[in-house]
Order: sequence, then structure tokens, then C-alpha cells
Amino acid sequence: MTDLAQKNVLVLGGSRGIGAALVRRFSAAGATVAFTYAGSRDAAEALAAETGATALRANSADRAELTALVSSRGSLDVLVVNAGTLVLGDPLELDADAIDHMIDVNVRAPYHASVEAARRMNENGRILIIGSVNGDRMPFAGGAAYAMTKSAVQGMVRGLGRDFGHRGITVNSIQPGPTDSDMNPAEGPMAATMHSFMAIKRHARPTEIAELATYLAGPHGAMITGSMQTIDGGFGA
Ligand code: NDP
Repeated sequence: MTDLAQKNVLVLGGSRGIGAALVRRFSAAGATVAFTYAGSRDAAEALAAETGATALRANSADRAELTALVSSRGSLDVLVVNAGTLVLGDPLELDADAIDHMIDVNVRAPYHASVEAARRMNENGRILIIGSVNGDRMPFAGGAAYAMTKSAVQGMVRGLGRDFGHRGITVNSIQPGPTDSDMNPAEGPMAATMHSFMAIKRHARPTEIAELATYLAGPHGAMITGSMQTIDGGFGA
């Protein structure tokens, strides 16, 4: 038995990358885990079979679908909003609809999912939103809109932390730096540039992000709220 055994956990965007590491880590801790996916059905079903977690299809860009899914999970102990998209490029060239979709997934979804979860969340519940160090620092061109979405998470977390604190519910953001995933492969073309900004010159492993999440979700996280927990190898230092 661990501190997270039997806790009711929902991970939004759990099929791949950091989300899959979160599903594995919370499942290994004995929690009852459900996770959503949008497009990666095969990966989601394989992860469910591997971990015993429940895979549910829900598009975070669809507010009604998302809030119905959150509501259907009943009284949560932990909500982790991980689903995110990354659109990089010259703002004069980027497709406006792609930017709006990113805002839907990275900003509107965490806000509405957090509020919906809090309606029936257990006392001392935990809300974790995966932000990014780019909410603090955007050291190259082409990332304005992505950085904007992750800065928005910061304001959301500070405010919701105050809104729900009287119930013992904490609201925090984990801000990864470069982390090995489909979104940002450790061997990708941008890797050397990213490492040049870092004190520890490598991508993080998704398991390192998941470990921080379980700390914040457990009893030792009870006094941490309204905060950004940066895990970036010094990218933002
Ligand atoms: P990946 O692209 O590897 O995985 C993204 C996950 O989010 C997938 O499980 C995907 O599911 C899900 N997802 C995306 N869009 C939707 C949607 N509309 N509805 C439901 N689920 C969705 O990304 P990472 O693992 O790298 O990133 C996870 C989070 O971490 C994001 O919020 C990202 O911004 C943040 N982050 C990542 C960093 C990195 O270097 N990797 C650095 C800093 C922050 P599916 O495939 O089923 O659609």
C-alpha cells in the first residue's frame, strides 16, 4: 500500500509521452487510474492492457465532451491535465485555426476540466496541470503562441489554488523543460539548441516528470498550491 493506493485518478491525455508515464506511475502506486486519448487508440488500448488503467476517448478541444467525461468519473482525488499540443513557427505564416486549437487544448481545457473536477472532488484533492518552462522563458523565435498558452496556465493555477484551498484541494502546474516524447524527441533537430540553454544538457525522461507528479499528488504535497514546479534541467535558470 502507498499513499496513492485506491485514489481515484484521471489523467487527461494519457496515451503517449509524459501522459503515458503518468498513467504507469499512478497505476504502479496502486491508484485507480483512468485516462483520455483523442487520436491514439491503439497506444491507449495497449497502455490500458499493460497497466490496468481505463482508456476513454475524449477530445480535450471539445468542451462539452471533456466536461462530461470529467463529470462521469465521479469524486476524483487527483486530476492531471497533461494533454497539450505544440504549434511552432513564424506567426505571420502559421494557420490561425491551428493556433486556436492549441489554445482550446492548452488553456480552455485545463480550466474547464479543473472546474468540473472540483465540483465533486474529494477533500484534499489534487489538481495538476502540465505547463511548460516556456511559460517563464521563450528563448527562441516561433514559440509565442505556445508560450502564451503555458503562461495562461500559471494564472489559472494561482487563481484556482485560492478558489479551492478552503477544501484542502491543491492546484499546481508542473513545468517541464525539454522532455523526450513524440512532441519533442531527444534526438530531434532542435535538441542541440535546447540543450545549449540548459545546465543539465539532456532531455528529461517522462518518468522524471511523473515522479514529481506523484509527490505533489501525495500527502507531502498538502501545503504546495498555486505554484509552478519547474523540472527543466536549468533551461529557465
Ligand atoms: P505528446 O505529443 O508526446 O503527447 C501528447 C498527449 O496529449 C497524447 O497522449 C495525446 O493523445 C494527448 N492529446 C493531445 N491533444 C489532445 C486532445 N485534443 N484531446 C485529448 N488528448 C490529447 O506530448 P508530450 O508528452 O511531450 O507533452 C505532454 C504535455 O507536456 C503537454 O501539455 C506539453 O505541452 C507539455 N510539455 C512537454 C514538453 C516536452 O519537451 N515534451 C516540455 C514542456 C511541456 P492522442 O495521441 O491520443 O491524441
